[in-house]
Amino acid sequence: MDIDWDNAYKTIDNKGYIQLSVRIGGKTYRTREHVVVWEKYNGVTLNGYHVHHINGIKGDNRIDNLQLLSPLEHSRLHKGFFIKDGEWYKYCPVCGILKVLSDDNFYEYKNKNNNTYHPACKECEKLRKKIYVSNNQEKVADARKQYYESHKEYYAKQQKERRKNNVELIKEKAHQSYVDNKTYYNEYSKQYGKSHRRELQDKQNESRALSRDMTNQKRREYRALNKDAINEKQREYRKKKRDTLKEEKANEQNNLM
Ligand SMILES: [Zn+2]
Ligand SMILES: [Zn+2]
Repeated sequence: MDIDWDNAYKTIDNKGYIQLSVRIGGKTYRTREHVVVWEKYNGVTLNGYHVHHINGIKGDNRIDNLQLLSPLEHSRLHKGFFIKDGEWYKYCPVCGILKVLSDDNFYEYKNKNNNTYHPACKECEKLRKKIYVSNNQEKVADARKQYYESHKEYYAKQQKERRKNNVELIKEKAHQSYVDNKTYYNEYSKQYGKSHRRELQDKQNESRALSRDMTNQKRREYRALNKDAINEKQREYRKKKRDTLKEEKANEQNNLM
């Protein structure tokens, strides 16, 4: 639908841009004035691109003040970067040093539309973080803990994966360490056995007694629980024995006759 924005109703929106409103058939259509100006002048729609106000005044919608930028370029500009000789630069607002935009100089982070950058240079951000951490140790520890708790499954999975990948390596290392320290290990266990003989024997006896007690206890419990079945089985067994005896006797008499 072609909307006549020339006679639109003008307001200022909550971000400070001039907003145009047109009412057609009980419906209100809205857009920003600078977008209309740019699209009308250039005869094309923005298609995901942004229109930037060069002098920073959001109400100055003269075509000379409008510049077409990609969302990334736009966010860079608003973070204080500028282009010089084809490269992006910025004066760090903390240390004031002019730095070229690179991974070494600025931290990047993702927001919902595109990637953008922390305001200060990496060094200043690091320092700020350090100061914050040392001033808020408990808070930081809590936050770390919480983060870990909410990502527990992820970390467990990662660890598992790492272990799986490293299993051969770990085995090899353990074996190598054993080989390297074989004499030491052997001597150590010998010495330990000698000086702790009494103790080790006591421990062994103790654990044997314990397991004996446990087995007996289990047996008693089992018997108590299955009394009827056990009695029935015993009766059957005795009856069977009696029957066989009888049979044997009968056979003997048959043979004698
Ligand atoms: Zn802008
Ligand atoms: Zn800095």
